[in-house]
Amino acid sequence: MAPGEKGPGDGRGQELSGRGRGMGGGRGLGPGGECVCPNCGEKKPHERGTPCFEINCPKCGTPMTRA
Ligand SMILES: [Zn+2]
Repeated sequence: MAPGEKGPGDGRGQELSGRGRGMGGGRGLGPGGECVCPNCGEKKPHERGTPCFEINCPKCGTPMTRA
């Protein structure tokens, strides 16, 4: 890689803007949108901004994991 070569890339910047779209409508439900309790299997919709492991299972209190 040549140092300093970071100018106007062709097509590289488009990858970023291409993501983050296309998942509109569904709220909470969907692939990766749930937290699951590893102990009892209780599921909860994943809250944005809150990692599953910071959420305790409402049934048994075990920290949940990403479904
Ligand atoms: Zn549980």
